Amino acid sequence: MIRVVVIGYGPVAARFVEGMLDSVRAGEVALAVLGAEQADVYNRVLVAEYAVGRADRDTLDIGDTAAARAAGVDVRLGEAATGIDRERRRVRTSTGSHLPYDRLVLATGARANVPTLAGLERSRRHRLARPHDPADLDRGARPLPRGVVTLRDLTDAELVADAVRDRRRIVVLGAGVLGMEFALAAAERGARVVVVHHGPSPMARNLDVAGGRTLALAASAAGVEMVAHSRAEGILTRTDDAGRAHFDALLCADGKQVHGDLLLLSAGAAPRVELAADAGLVVSTGVVVDEHLRSWTDPHVFAIGDCAQVATPGSAAPDGRVPGASAGLIGPGWRQADALVELLRAEAAGRSATLAPPAERPTVVMLKAEGVDVCAGGVVDADPWDADPQGHSCGRAWQVTVWADPARGGYVKLVTRGGVLEGFVCVGMPRTAAELTLLFERGSELPADRTALLRLDSTDALVAPASDPFAPDATVCWCNGVTAGRITEAIDAGDDTVACVGRSTRAGTGCGGCKGRIAELLARAGKGETVSAG
Ligand SMILES: Cc1cc2nc3c(=O)[nH]c(=O)nc-3n(C[C@H](O)[C@H](O)[C@H](O)COP(=O)(O)OP(=O)(O)OC[C@H]3O[C@@H](n4cnc5c(N)ncnc54)[C@H](O)[C@@H]3O)c2cc1C
Repeated sequence: MIRVVVIGYGPVAARFVEGMLDSVRAGEVALAVLGAEQADVYNRVLVAEYAVGRADRDTLDIGDTAAARAAGVDVRLGEAATGIDRERRRVRTSTGSHLPYDRLVLATGARANVPTLAGLERSRRHRLARPHDPADLDRGARPLPRGVVTLRDLTDAELVADAVRDRRRIVVLGAGVLGMEFALAAAERGARVVVVHHGPSPMARNLDVAGGRTLALAASAAGVEMVAHSRAEGILTRTDDAGRAHFDALLCADGKQVHGDLLLLSAGAAPRVELAADAGLVVSTGVVVDEHLRSWTDPHVFAIGDCAQVATPGSAAPDGRVPGASAGLIGPGWRQADALVELLRAEAAGRSATLAPPAERPTVVMLKAEGVDVCAGGVVDADPWDADPQGHSCGRAWQVTVWADPARGGYVKLVTRGGVLEGFVCVGMPRTAAELTLLFERGSELPADRTALLRLDSTDALVAPASDPFAPDATVCWCNGVTAGRITEAIDAGDDTVACVGRSTRAGTGCGGCKGRIAELLARAGKGETVSAG
């Protein structure tokens, strides 16, 4: 029997535990899991939906801790790992106990960044500070001041939910995907929202400036106040009725003060690597593992999910930095969990296995927002006038096509090489976005007349997409990598609701953004269902 200890009980660890249950029941594996959060495992992807009141708490449920315990897994909620003794192969925990292991799985995820702002210095946590207690896992020397939150866990969501429910004024610092999704959803729920960001346009990592500006216009039209070109430098506080300091305003470098009741810090997340670093394992942006998810340093230690940085051994730069980073997305984490299950189950059963997670395809980013369609992937920064208009290979082989209609909220950019789509931005045109996603996924050539793609969203003429968005090989659920073909099989086998399809294929159980398309597939099969939010 091999002893496996998992540190962290987020959605990726939950998938790993689920996959190991047969080996636990067979007595081949003794499995223990440490989860710092008191709450049972939940789907973190839906935390923002929960915060704005679009998802109930029970729709966040994921994994089955009761079944795991019944199978014999030692699940410890509210207990943090505080140290790893690699020599004796045991993990120290916040209750003072020691868990011995033969294989250790780090699934510690990521924590929300607290930016460098005057007034928050003591709330910033040193990246390598070791936790002593579950409650101090993400906290600096001081908790965040009242009225300042991040949005990473259920406790954060509950604080934010109060502000949304009471329609207070919420200042969001940062205009990445999460900041924009939250802002649009909170505004839709009646909160007064202002987004402050330092660049010229939102979602700067995923969109070019023109695409971002089109999104900013759509957000303004949806009631979100957008404040660009504003570098935040500090916060101002006021004293509340009970004599406690409370957020009052965000102070920007140009002297501007953005007042609000709540400040939501949306400045990205960073892998939790402190335990690994403290134990002498190689860390860079994340815990560095090879393509089999094994630590570069110790063959008994693995890492999966948001904390893991997969890189080829030996690829470190002279300064020790290792290229790449964790995707910070649920899909790749789940695929890593599945691959590690295969590996450890084979090992426990005395079989050899050298499985690695499948190589990840380039990511397509879709904004989850009612009525604001944004989709992008691949190379997006190429400039039409820098590109080689003939597409010759002279070092600038891109061809770039741009169409912009800011008055009607439409923007499309296509970046091709040899006619094949290598990047795109699509705002305000959902049918075009669906078609481009498919073409991008397949590496297909674009039609010579690019305007055919633009007409897909035309209301004047009904133009059919060139490719079937429900072709069997088209991906419907990106989080779980489920194709239309697999969903159709499940429907043919008797699944008649989105929830049933989710149970048998896992489609729709990640971010939930594909539930509408699953419902469409059901409707095509004569099993219509309306999809409610969440
Ligand atoms: C608001 C929000 C929206 C998101 N939307 C999307 C989306 O639309 N699509 C998408 O793909 N991804 C999205 N994500 C990202 C997604 O949630 C993460 O990729 C996913 O949660 C990673 O899972 P994980 O299990 O690796 O880590 P986490 O979810 O971070 O879980 C790690 C767990 O480990 C615990 N832990 C850490 N250290 C210790 C320790 N020392 N001892 C014990 N326990 C410990 C933590 O308490 C935590 O519970 C979103 C994230 C957020 C916050």
